[in-house]
Amino acid sequence: MGTENPGGSNFPIRPPSSPFASAPPTMAPFPSPGTLVGYEASNFRPTLPSGPPTMPPFSSAGPRPPARLNNPSVSSPPITSVPPTGGPYQRFPTPPYPSTVQTTPIHAPPERQPPFQPFANQVLAPSISLPPPSQVPPVPMGSSPQPPSGSLFSGPRPNFQLPFPGYSSQQPAVSQAPFAAQQGSFMVPPPASSPFASQQGGYVPPPPVAAPLSYQSRDQMHHPSSAPPISGIQSLAEDFSSLSLASMPGSIESGLNYRTLPRPLDGDVEPSSFTEMYPMNCNPRYLRLTTSAIPSSKSLVSRWHLPLGAVVCPLAEAPEGEEVPVINFTSTGIIRCRRCRTYVNPYVTFTDAGRKWRCNICALLNDVPGDYFAHLDATGRRIDLDQRPELLKGSVDFLAPTDYMHRPPMPPSYFFLIDVSISAVRNGMIEVVAQTIRSCLDELPGFPRTQIGFITFDSTIHFYNMKSSLTQPQMMVVTDLDDIFLPLPDDLLVNLSESRNVVETFLDSLPSMFQDNVNVESAFGPAVKAAFMVMRQLGGKLLIFQNTLPSLGVGRLKLRGDDLRVYGTDKEHILRLPEDPFYKQMAADLTKFQIGVNVYAFSDKYTDIASLGTLAKYTGGQIYYYPNFQSGIHGEKLRHELARDLTRETAWEAGMRIRCGKGVRFTSYHGNFMLRHTNLLALPAVDCDKAFAVQLSLEETVLSALTVYFQVALLYTASCGERRIRVHTAAAPVVTDLGEMYRQTDIGAIVSLFSRLAIEKTLTNKLEDARNSLQLRIVKALREYCNLYAVQHRLGARMIYPDSLKFLCLYGLALSKSVPLKGGYADVQLDERCAAGFTMMALPVKKLLKLLYPSLIRIDDYLLKSSVQSGDFENIIKRLPLVAESLDSRGLYIYDDGFRFVIWFGRMLSPDIARNLLGADFAAELSKVTLSEHDNEISMRLMTILKKLGEGDPSYYQLPYLVRQGEQPREGSLLLVNLLEDQMGGTGGYVDWITHIHRQVQQNA
Ligand SMILES: [Zn+2]
Repeated sequence: MGTENPGGSNFPIRPPSSPFASAPPTMAPFPSPGTLVGYEASNFRPTLPSGPPTMPPFSSAGPRPPARLNNPSVSSPPITSVPPTGGPYQRFPTPPYPSTVQTTPIHAPPERQPPFQPFANQVLAPSISLPPPSQVPPVPMGSSPQPPSGSLFSGPRPNFQLPFPGYSSQQPAVSQAPFAAQQGSFMVPPPASSPFASQQGGYVPPPPVAAPLSYQSRDQMHHPSSAPPISGIQSLAEDFSSLSLASMPGSIESGLNYRTLPRPLDGDVEPSSFTEMYPMNCNPRYLRLTTSAIPSSKSLVSRWHLPLGAVVCPLAEAPEGEEVPVINFTSTGIIRCRRCRTYVNPYVTFTDAGRKWRCNICALLNDVPGDYFAHLDATGRRIDLDQRPELLKGSVDFLAPTDYMHRPPMPPSYFFLIDVSISAVRNGMIEVVAQTIRSCLDELPGFPRTQIGFITFDSTIHFYNMKSSLTQPQMMVVTDLDDIFLPLPDDLLVNLSESRNVVETFLDSLPSMFQDNVNVESAFGPAVKAAFMVMRQLGGKLLIFQNTLPSLGVGRLKLRGDDLRVYGTDKEHILRLPEDPFYKQMAADLTKFQIGVNVYAFSDKYTDIASLGTLAKYTGGQIYYYPNFQSGIHGEKLRHELARDLTRETAWEAGMRIRCGKGVRFTSYHGNFMLRHTNLLALPAVDCDKAFAVQLSLEETVLSALTVYFQVALLYTASCGERRIRVHTAAAPVVTDLGEMYRQTDIGAIVSLFSRLAIEKTLTNKLEDARNSLQLRIVKALREYCNLYAVQHRLGARMIYPDSLKFLCLYGLALSKSVPLKGGYADVQLDERCAAGFTMMALPVKKLLKLLYPSLIRIDDYLLKSSVQSGDFENIIKRLPLVAESLDSRGLYIYDDGFRFVIWFGRMLSPDIARNLLGADFAAELSKVTLSEHDNEISMRLMTILKKLGEGDPSYYQLPYLVRQGEQPREGSLLLVNLLEDQMGGTGGYVDWITHIHRQVQQNA
């Protein structure tokens, strides 16, 4: 994902086949509690711990400390008990829920039953034979040395009688130890303290008027009055897909042809049934449920075995040609349910001649304010409906009135903390960073209010006075690392427009200021504290550029991960956690003061990304990782990614809450953020590239509603200075049929949740345990599905699965082979593994799926075509299975995982092509060649292709790496190890994996 680390492994023992030899770049953290602006939190009583704090003290919780910051580990209230009123901003008071709520017997509006859409192309896969299960080679996924006999699967054979290990239900409750919990997984306390429990006061669920929806088959869904599903093979063909794994006695070779296996060569396909059923739902890019058929009972949930939840990307870029409408309610105030605070949306209903509206989430009947009143027509629709986007669109931005603010909306604010020690000078990082910031000054959002400031550091901290009246910045050096103070009260963070000249002078001179610096130390912790002290009045984005392991002052770190004995033990995961509590405490302080952190890490040696990344994880930021950075090679990538970070639309001082209908609640949140008030995600700075996953559970044994509604509300300050609430609303039907849940499964959302859960598990367990948990869960889900159909239809040895889950096995394999989870010590450098974990925790669905199952396309034919129209490219490219067999020695291929390109030159590739693409470097070793455009049609075409592929997703810059067939170990580490369907270095391939899964499904099936 990140830059390549050409042969520069810090761990010489590592075999050359390390997959992401060039680590993936970025990850994103999670914000955590802190002062949140006004907002929605208001109605929910914060849960305070009843017992004495058992957590490390949390320094910023109390009254605002003086400018001089003392050791944060001095006594102060624990973070769990941070009262919402702490900190500089006051929370906007809102009336609490009425203690007794009017009992309104209601049902979800008796809406028309949404027709389900038929699934396309569900066909029985051709039968393929396979050797008897006993002869199937097991698939070892772990890398720890295992005896070759028996099961090669590194773990013990899973015991199916045991409950599925790990994952949310068994995680510690947050109220006990918000920080003790591992990465980004925040569990909501039990129902008793849930907001819904309190707000439902005296609500008594009415008896069902009609039987809950129960779709026995799609046929029935379309024709509810039709007969029960036809039994027999005919209906089977429609209901699910299957794969024959019948045994073939006497066969030794696996008879399963890899070509027939399902694979996602079309990439992510957003679920359409969801939007077609409920056309007023928000676009799936903002919210995707793991199944859009909500189970009607807890027993259904437990039988489903897959995670029930959603992936939310609240600021995803709007579909082309669409904009999220901005709605100004300043005259009436924003219309919200007075009980559950749901925002008015397309699913509320108006009654009583237009004087009342019923909340679709909690069913309360609310008054319509006089200014918002409109008559209803004969069908009960408001006559002004056409002018009310909030009643028509699933996604809107409400302009927030002043009562949603604790203070005036903050200006966009960028603060840079730059390592200027010798390694940063030598690898050219400082120069690229300075140039890039300077080139982006005109595009920073928020002109003319934008604020900017800088600190540099090595063994000391260097502040810069940027006062607008100066002709050049004044540097002030603070050497006392134990007692950091600000040398100036003001002018360290300044208005960019006013101080533009000083800022430019500073950036122009920065590289030369330190060009002779030979300081090797890093006072990283004290420098972060200094930046915090400068920024705390305002908040904003803190961009940290770090080249070395922090060596001085608070937060200093030491080399970890080189003790081989730790691996494979129950202490292994500690290496993936921050070493020093300073980092979590600092992250909590930063979040509290609305400061989001992005960490750019560049070292060629161990820098403890597990610790550094914590700053980004809990502040809603991300990690950009450029191992072994050299400006000559990786400069363009850094330039592009830093520029995007600086110029993409950002939501400031934000908080997000997700509401859902009664009987259902969110139980855990996964991503980069910090959680407050049990269900408020604090996000100091959030953008379109960040996604969050949540898990749901049923509060009632049986749901009485026919439809469940979800509403995501993100309160934020836009760069233009407006305070807004972005609201996404969606509805999903409740079903009583397990088969329907499977049919309506969204594999993208499932994989997103699985990834986050598995990565979190690596922070509390061995890698092998995380992989085994994932595998077991897949097996259970498929077995349950198999039980639904197999017996009744005597399917015997066929592996059956719903069409919606046809890629489940493959993505499970891909996840097990992904950088955060794969192998063991020798397979991935520790920093690289942690960086990838942070990154994947925040990726939107599409980006994540692309990373897990990258594109492999052949392009030599296309490059040679005499007449090519622009636009032809999309029609010509065909994604290939990720197996070595896809590679033809006469071909030229692009491997594209969304983070980089690998361009593979077949040994027999036409010399013309190679010469045209490489020019004079035609015969050189490709590790030393940088791809550049030459003056010929073939070269220009290739560059155009790369540009087009890159433009599809600008969140990361994809450097092209060139490799020639047979050039080892480079070919292995850049490409072959990523052909995840192949067996590789002791780990099984797709055929082995699916065979193994099938055997497990059949046990006790
Ligand atoms: Zn309500």
